[in-house]
Amino acid sequence: MARAGAVVRGCLELMGQEVRPGITTRELDRLAEKYIRSQGGIPTFKGYRGFPGSICASPNDMVVHGIPGKVRLREGDILGVDVGVTVEGYIADAAMTFPIGEISEEARRLLRATEESLMKGIEQCRVGNRVGDISHAVQVHAESHGYSVVQSMVGHGVGRDMHEDPQVPNFGPPHQGPELREGMVLAIEPMVNAGGYQVEMGEDGWAIYTRDGSLSAHFEHTVAITNSGPRILTNATAVRG
Ligand code: MG
Repeated sequence: MARAGAVVRGCLELMGQEVRPGITTRELDRLAEKYIRSQGGIPTFKGYRGFPGSICASPNDMVVHGIPGKVRLREGDILGVDVGVTVEGYIADAAMTFPIGEISEEARRLLRATEESLMKGIEQCRVGNRVGDISHAVQVHAESHGYSVVQSMVGHGVGRDMHEDPQVPNFGPPHQGPELREGMVLAIEPMVNAGGYQVEMGEDGWAIYTRDGSLSAHFEHTVAITNSGPRILTNATAVRG
């Protein structure tokens, strides 16, 4: 899974270099697929329940699950990019939301607070804690900035399948839910809206939008629970150890 995570990370770094005003999300998808395969990985999302892309590319008020296509990025947009990679049957999954050129201070604040919420959740990934400790830490941090967390989609265990137990909500009371044990691996993924928490599905049956049209950001890491604390598998391009 760490090897898969390194490819995910490399792909997100590539996306960070390539996102710019004028590029389409389809072009990003092609670059991502080529990179993932060049590293010996398989793009996990491609073909998943019929999803056509190797990445999810979700601009502005789209929360997640955007099908890459004709959307041409413009200065001031934000773009969520979610990447899953399978290496030798094991999966890692991560996402980042990128600024396209110069973005508003409002958008910058949302990106920063969402990424911080993810890191607050990861800090709770300790043996003996419970899933609710992650959920609560994410929610408290996002809401302290006046934002809301999406409730109808959640993080998840990850391993040989992309979505395994337990579910990892981005909201809820602490000290509840399954206990965290050594060797568990979780994909933690706050989806944070600048406005209300409500979302709705687009006409393609995939894309999820904020109901009020507010901006939404998404950051995700695949994190292993170890006796020495959380080990983020998707933040290094070289495998450790
Ligand atoms: Mg995920």
